Amino acid sequence: MDLAFAPELERFRGKVRHYFETEFPGDIIAKTAAGRSLTTREVRRSEQALGAKGWLATGWPAEYGGPGWSIEQQYIFDEELERAGVPTVTPMGVIYVGPVLYTFGSEEQKARWLPGIREGREGWAQGYSEPEAGSDLASLQFSAVREGDEYVLNGTKVWTSAAQHADWIFLLTRTDNSGRKQEGITFLISEIDRPGVRVTPIISIDGKHALNQVTFENVRVPVDYRIGEEGKGWTYSQYLLGHERTSYARIGGKRKMLAGLREIAAWAPAGGNRRLIDEPAFAAKLTGAEMAVDSLEMTVFRILSAVAAGGAPGNEASIVKILATETHQQITELMLEASARAALIASEDSAAPDWAGEDRLAAWAPPARAAYLGGRAQSIYGGTNEIQKNIIAKRVLGL
Ligand SMILES: Cc1cc2nc3c(=O)[nH]c(=O)nc-3n(C[C@H](O)[C@H](O)[C@H](O)COP(=O)(O)OP(=O)(O)OC[C@H]3O[C@@H](n4cnc5c(N)ncnc54)[C@H](O)[C@@H]3O)c2cc1C
Repeated sequence: MDLAFAPELERFRGKVRHYFETEFPGDIIAKTAAGRSLTTREVRRSEQALGAKGWLATGWPAEYGGPGWSIEQQYIFDEELERAGVPTVTPMGVIYVGPVLYTFGSEEQKARWLPGIREGREGWAQGYSEPEAGSDLASLQFSAVREGDEYVLNGTKVWTSAAQHADWIFLLTRTDNSGRKQEGITFLISEIDRPGVRVTPIISIDGKHALNQVTFENVRVPVDYRIGEEGKGWTYSQYLLGHERTSYARIGGKRKMLAGLREIAAWAPAGGNRRLIDEPAFAAKLTGAEMAVDSLEMTVFRILSAVAAGGAPGNEASIVKILATETHQQITELMLEASARAALIASEDSAAPDWAGEDRLAAWAPPARAAYLGGRAQSIYGGTNEIQKNIIAKRVLGL
């Protein structure tokens, strides 16, 4: 089996790599590499740089302003973006709501929202989860009551990523309680600074502010902020989740972490004259993680071939979500182990002639710790691993 990309795709890769190495803002790459959070202004600057190039909404069809790339080109682009250490694009706009808007939105809605997303000018947040509705999302109670040409919104959304950077939020709301719980859900949009909206930070285990609680008290939005039909929001929400779950693969980022891990393991002292990489148990774990990334990549290729043939990511995206999560956690656990082992032995080895330990550890350990802690949440967001397994059992395997 020959998995090499054709020469014209490798030329495309060269062009993308050159852009990231020479034109993309270097300060943003450096801050991300240090494991530090970006400000709202930096997030916008990062995404507008890609938007100005026409390289932000890479999966969108050309008629909506996408670059018209093949699946292979999109894959190579993502690989290069992650290789260069460019911050992951905030997915709520380009990957989640964008495809919902161009698939189910009116012409007026497309004209209003797609340009701001595509150009990176406007940030978005995803208002699905509620304090009493996470895995069982269809139980949501966030209420939208129609009054004339407006909906009046009341309720709380929680774990809302990046709401502090957002201009807009898309919401699953309940407009009817009488039928099955999947019915009576409506997909609405609101500005995040409308009167009556309050965004409260939630600080996670890594000490960072990525999450929020967002409360709505008698917030009025125009009826034309509704996507599609009233009561059909569940259908649109599931279409969105297929795109969300495939987006977690991030093969390039994983390969970059593995390369860093190999480098640090070749240096990190492991007692005596040995390095961490000389320890068969550690080397086996590292090779195991590399093989896990290879097999994740094969699975992603299978799903992408189905998408290229005209399909949507569908329920099989749950397989990618689980594999990507487990592989990410496998790698970041090793990163933490390597940092801890190196730090423990470091003091004994610090007299060795080639010791340059403090600087190396100081550069490596904080981002490794941030990646490890951030990775714990991946088996929860976008639907927990248990929920993905239920989907695979019922809808993929038909059990
Ligand atoms: C870092 C992070 C970012 C997030 N970002 C967003 C966001 O931007 N927007 C948004 O809307 N939401 C977001 N979420 C919320 C996320 O989607 C929910 O946390 C998730 O769906 C789980 O819901 P829950 O927290 O209510 O847990 P629960 O649903 O209460 O689950 C608790 C436990 O029970 C298990 N469980 C529940 N039901 C079943 C079942 N039927 N079978 C087997 N096991 C089950 C779960 O797997 C889990 O282990 C984010 C979460 C995190 C951690």
